[in-house]
Amino acid sequence: MPEAIQFLPPRSEVLSRRAAIIADLAGILPADCVIHEGRELVPFETDAFISYRRLPLAVVLPRTTSQVAAVMKYCHENGIPVVPRGAGTSLSGGAIPQEDAVVLGLSRMARILELDYANRTATVQAGVTNLNISDTVAVDGFFYAPDPSSQLACTIGGNIGMNSGGAHCLKYGVTTNNLLGVKLVLVDGQVIELGGKHLDAAGYDLLGLVCGSEGQLGIVTEATVRLIARPEGARPVLFGFATSEQAGACVAGIIASGIIPVAIEFMDKPAIEICEAFAKAGYPLDVGALLIVEVEGSEAEMDAVLENIVEIARRHEVMTVRECQSATEAALIWKGRKSAFGATGRIADYICMDGTVPLGKLSYVLKKTSEITDSFGLRVANVFHAGDGNMHPLILFNANDPEEAMKAEEAGNEILKLCVDAGGCLTGEHGVGIEKRDLMRHQYTQAELNQQMAVRAAFDEDWILNPSKVFPLEGRG
Ligand SMILES: Cc1cc2nc3c(=O)[nH]c(=O)nc-3n(C[C@H](O)[C@H](O)[C@H](O)COP(=O)(O)OP(=O)(O)OC[C@H]3O[C@@H](n4cnc5c(N)ncnc54)[C@H](O)[C@@H]3O)c2cc1C
Repeated sequence: MPEAIQFLPPRSEVLSRRAAIIADLAGILPADCVIHEGRELVPFETDAFISYRRLPLAVVLPRTTSQVAAVMKYCHENGIPVVPRGAGTSLSGGAIPQEDAVVLGLSRMARILELDYANRTATVQAGVTNLNISDTVAVDGFFYAPDPSSQLACTIGGNIGMNSGGAHCLKYGVTTNNLLGVKLVLVDGQVIELGGKHLDAAGYDLLGLVCGSEGQLGIVTEATVRLIARPEGARPVLFGFATSEQAGACVAGIIASGIIPVAIEFMDKPAIEICEAFAKAGYPLDVGALLIVEVEGSEAEMDAVLENIVEIARRHEVMTVRECQSATEAALIWKGRKSAFGATGRIADYICMDGTVPLGKLSYVLKKTSEITDSFGLRVANVFHAGDGNMHPLILFNANDPEEAMKAEEAGNEILKLCVDAGGCLTGEHGVGIEKRDLMRHQYTQAELNQQMAVRAAFDEDWILNPSKVFPLEGRG
């Protein structure tokens, strides 16, 4: 698989000046903020996509916005590519470096700067982990809603880079819906602020543009995010179906009815077995597909909403309905779901697709997905945010078998094209990165791509910010 992935040709003038660049960076930042020795660079050679690895030219780990600005000013003046990096949990290769790039890691900028409960906001540095925000405010009865399964490790800067989602985003929205403001270091080192604690801003929505821009429009060093008051209660309920198609149709039925639960997560049989073997969450093993539907509110509110959901599930021939009886049981149910990717990694190598489809097409796309993986002789496990139509087929393969690895990649491409052809899109939350870069042509016309690239170039004329990602390589800067 690694040979299949190309980056823009390295800038030879940058490579030839490596020693001088490292010396300059060491002059700009304290000595312990610059990493350039081979062994120490290894942790930065890839991210959670892991299909490709290459050592960067150097890594810098600044502690302040002004240090980030100084690095950007220097790299801009010297035409040196920069790859921003949070925790490196990107599943689309968004944080994978290239050999002529300086990796700009934000992990040391990990301070919570302000909790403003009166305005329901938290202002944090970009390297704060997602879970750290919710853990910190839990004692005061608040939480930060977007909850990627990687939330223990991933940073708020990375979440903004990818416009990340999670199991509980159905009701509360993804990162862009919970982001109020950022401090952004522009490519030339200027520092600007977008948004703030207020709901909307005058002029163009540059904050919306930056959220999901995969590190190509600037470096986020601080973020102000929305805090939400914890509901009185929350209850996940398990619904087991004989087939994936029935479960998919039930999801569409729930949303079409106007009910918006907090979460609707889907697992097919392989995913149930994999997660149950790992987490012992008590998932039923005699069903073909499982939905985890979470509702929240007072006991009376939850009872009323659940009554309607159960009614819809019955219309789709639900086999099992199991309400959880305790907070411990609820935590276990979510532990099983949130460890799905790790649990899958115990039994095989896998690539995780991230297409999104209109809910009415869920059943169709699930069926076609199985047909595609069958035709390549590969196994697939589906575990995903069904209420958002955000599908995550995990294609299982043996990475030591190059032929099988290539087949997995081809099958993945076919599945993503299927999602687009069904009226959906290539990515729901993991971003384009390098993984889906070439498939962008399947989603967009050249005119549409040109317009997006023009926006990118307005922020970074020389294409030094994360240059090999998002757009097909040929025909651009
Ligand atoms: C087990 C597992 C489960 C996951 N589950 C989910 C899930 O449920 N939902 C979901 O959405 N994702 C999920 N992901 C994907 C991943 O965790 C997210 O994309 C996450 O937001 C990446 O954060 P990070 O800090 O690791 O960023 P990185 O991987 O380091 O970077 C991600 C992108 O953001 C850019 N970037 C990073 N920091 C900054 C910054 N400060 N300024 C500008 N650009 C920046 C990078 O250049 C890159 O393009 C999962 C990943 C794993 C491994």
